[in-house]
Amino acid sequence: MRWETIREDGPPRVAPNLGDYEKECAGFSWSQARAELEGLPGGQGLNIAHEAVDRHAASGRADAVALRCVGRDDSVTCVTYAQLARSTARFANVLRGLGIGRGDRVTTLLGRCPELYTVVLGTLKNTSVLCPLFSAFGPDPVAQRLRLGDARVLVTTADLYRRKIAGKRDRLPGLRHVLIVGEGADEREGTLSLDALMARADDRFTVPPTSPDDMALLHFTSGTTGTPKGAVHVHEAAVAHYATAGYALDLHRDDVFWCTADPGWVTGMSYGIVAPLMHGVTVVVDEGDYDARRWYRILAGQRVSVWYTAPTALRMLMRTTPRTGPYDLPRSFDLSALRFVASVGEPLNPEAVVWGRDVLGLPVHDNWWQTETGAIMIANFAGCEIRPGSMGRPLPGVEAAVLRRGEDGRAEVADGRVIVLTEPGAEGELALRPGWPSMFRGYLHDEARTAAAFAGGWYLTGDLVRRDADGWYWFVGRADDVIKSAGHLIGPFEVESALMEHPAVAEAGVIGRPDPVAGNVVKAFVTLRPGFDAGAATRRDLLAFARRRLGPAVAPREIAFDEHLPHTRSGKVMRRLLRARELGLPEGDTSTLESTEPSS
Ligand code: ATP
Ligand code: MG
Repeated sequence: MRWETIREDGPPRVAPNLGDYEKECAGFSWSQARAELEGLPGGQGLNIAHEAVDRHAASGRADAVALRCVGRDDSVTCVTYAQLARSTARFANVLRGLGIGRGDRVTTLLGRCPELYTVVLGTLKNTSVLCPLFSAFGPDPVAQRLRLGDARVLVTTADLYRRKIAGKRDRLPGLRHVLIVGEGADEREGTLSLDALMARADDRFTVPPTSPDDMALLHFTSGTTGTPKGAVHVHEAAVAHYATAGYALDLHRDDVFWCTADPGWVTGMSYGIVAPLMHGVTVVVDEGDYDARRWYRILAGQRVSVWYTAPTALRMLMRTTPRTGPYDLPRSFDLSALRFVASVGEPLNPEAVVWGRDVLGLPVHDNWWQTETGAIMIANFAGCEIRPGSMGRPLPGVEAAVLRRGEDGRAEVADGRVIVLTEPGAEGELALRPGWPSMFRGYLHDEARTAAAFAGGWYLTGDLVRRDADGWYWFVGRADDVIKSAGHLIGPFEVESALMEHPAVAEAGVIGRPDPVAGNVVKAFVTLRPGFDAGAATRRDLLAFARRRLGPAVAPREIAFDEHLPHTRSGKVMRRLLRARELGLPEGDTSTLESTEPSS
């Protein structure tokens, strides 16, 4: 590997610090991790909201700031743990008053606002099931998910309701109540004011007992590879949220934590709300939109110490501040409070890891997980060596393996068995041994797809990886995205990362284009940085650069310039769409495609 490894020599940290990785793994058990949580009084099970809020409110952390909401105008509103305990109790009582109970689905269609946190955690207190939707979804994807998720209650704004749901309400007979945040509720339209209901509700609530399999969260996947699936998660997942946020995000009680993921996606829920609050930290909530200057201003102004973001966001920052400088923009902010940066959602190009070190003064720690795994599974840890381009090593308590794959790119299953590859560098499908507490309990209403995700005692992730001799995992590509060209299997990530090292490239998406001779040839779609010309000279230069880096068998044969690659709303490059457009095929499910027009 060309990239040097990065060793961190920041201040010594308190446990858990995975400096002694093997020892920590050997000494870890999920039952011990479970014992670190408080549980409901009288041993009545686990409740996520109890661990995230009430536990702190009843202890010395009652007046600590749980949420620090930064408005679009930079105004700051703080919510303490005690206030959050009361508001969530009120919302749980609101639900109870509406006849909504255990297992009933409460769906949110909201941007980031303080009410969202009350609704999420109040729903969990009531043992109802929270299903977050991304507020920029159009009417059809919203209706589809409300129907598929059996939504009983929807919490949204009057504007979103009128634009996205009102016209479809009569086709959603299961949707009993629509609660409106802010102004504009109208009983004639079948909507109720959340404020009015909250004002009448009691702020004390006794959380009912839970059993380990009580459903808590319903998350739709990003739809990167096809139709989104509804992954079911249970309250027991809290054990994994807590443990993994310590290990992979290095969260400690005094941290100010900012997760940039939208709470409509699993990252924004598990690590934007649940896990940090379980650790009793202060969570920064940004109510505004992405803007490089604003983001640096939040990092500096809020004294953020731990930052969890995504490759797409980092690439946007890199666009404004190349690694080679000038560093005027970040250097005009005081980022001295920042001590840990992590990324998830897509492969993190090595260039971005090193950019972090050079521009932010901290390397970026890549970590890997999925909606289905419910929590981080593989990570580069605090205080440990970082291998740029690697997603890291499995967390304590997580057993991972590389499975031999068949023709279709997925693990080969014969008579219910799979073959585990042990030789270093072998490529295959990443699999995880079931048993970690946040593993999804199935795709809602889709037993066949659920069953297909397990074989030979493993959960199959659909991602292809390599494991090196020291046990670090390297992402190759999604099984669906891997390109077969002239007998080689090419992972798009490797090609995209090489292109990213060229100063002209801001982002790249790579696909296979069918070719009568090679089977497929590699085609790259490239977004250029400002100031570079999308002409023949740049194209020639990039093709030659990639050939030097990757060799002729792997380098792209063709390059097209594209000002805006298609992304999912959770920020991932949608290669299947690039491919469909290239080949003139139907685009398939595009409900999670990010709109290039303003979303509101
Ligand atoms: P769908 O399952 O609907 O196609 P999706 O897989 O994108 O969508 P998510 O669960 O949001 O839905 O994303 C998980 C996937 O994101 C992983 O399986 C992997 O492909 C990718 N991913 C997440 N983190 C990383 C990472 N650090 N490196 C590489 N890939 C990652
Ligand atoms: Mg997936």
